[in-house]
Amino acid sequence: MVVVLAGDSTPAHRAEVIRRVRATGATVAARSPELLVVGGGRPDAGAYLAELPQVVNVATLTAEYPLVAAESRCQEPSVVSIAGCRIGPHGFAVIAGPCAVESRDQLVTIARAAREAGCHVLRGGAFKPRTSPYSFQGLGLAGLDLLAEARELTGLPFVTEVLDVRMAERVAAVADAVQVGARNMQNYPLLREVGRLERPVVLKRGPAATIDETLLAAEHILAAGNDRVVICERGIRTFEPGYRFTLDLAAVTVLRERTHLPVIVDPSHAAGATRRVPPLALAAAAAGADGVMVEVHHDPATARCDGQQALSPCQLQELTRSLRLAAGAAGRTLNPTPADTLVAPALAANPVPVSATPAVEPL
Ligand code: PEP
Ligand code: MN
Repeated sequence: MVVVLAGDSTPAHRAEVIRRVRATGATVAARSPELLVVGGGRPDAGAYLAELPQVVNVATLTAEYPLVAAESRCQEPSVVSIAGCRIGPHGFAVIAGPCAVESRDQLVTIARAAREAGCHVLRGGAFKPRTSPYSFQGLGLAGLDLLAEARELTGLPFVTEVLDVRMAERVAAVADAVQVGARNMQNYPLLREVGRLERPVVLKRGPAATIDETLLAAEHILAAGNDRVVICERGIRTFEPGYRFTLDLAAVTVLRERTHLPVIVDPSHAAGATRRVPPLALAAAAAGADGVMVEVHHDPATARCDGQQALSPCQLQELTRSLRLAAGAAGRTLNPTPADTLVAPALAANPVPVSATPAVEPL
């Protein structure tokens, strides 16, 4: 069963509930800040726990992924905040930036364009997963410093990919959110590692992963203690060679039914061509996504990675204008821009907090 704690529960409340769980003879198999997966115990354990004031629900779940299942939160969608940009129901977030961080000039130019277009979060890869070992692999740590500088200059928080367990803490110490890319969706040690880090995670669906496999990947992160996960549909591999990947927008509606986690769509990697990005982004908004992530370059012809699918700053402006309408048609309003509400936190100076308690106890 899943025990749902009140949103304002303190660690002391949690500890008290866990003590009561054990008193029933049950064990905590996994936990995230507001959910406990509980196994065993006497037959009336659920009813007993439901009486505790800090417990808002006790659900019997059949889902393989109890922490991410929609039922575990009584079908209430979660909101994940990336440094104040709320990703979840009602609003709509636009994450934009280059595929790869290439230089200070490139990144600052694009970050300013994203800011002017009314985007909410900057994206950019410092560590790039490339199919060929001879392609540009990213600037690495120097790229992270540039992302932090772009944040200072524009006020936009940023998300960047973590490729390797060994770098996860370093990346999370600086980034406002970390991305686990499509190729790493089933890298379980990496999923557990980002689960230990107290940063939001954008988890991209693997190109050959089913929806349930994607949700099980998210479950690894929550079971390790981090419930701030955003699922990103970015296209799957099918028999169709007409574009780079098949953008599975039906998955957005299925994910909605199966999980409380927010869902965004990356149309750029699916489209593989700039001209296809705007229609797919608008379709994602119409399908009920909580946001989109798009690639942008001020000079796509010289981009060192994925220039063929990058929007120009002008195209980005046009797209955000149309997204306002498409999101509105789906009953949402575009999020306020950072200038309205956000103050970029000075993360660089703070080491990333790592949860001290192991997420899983032996059964
Ligand atoms: C990216 O977003 O930079 C990326 C590499 O995308 P994906 O993991 O979806 O291929
Ligand atoms: Mn790319």
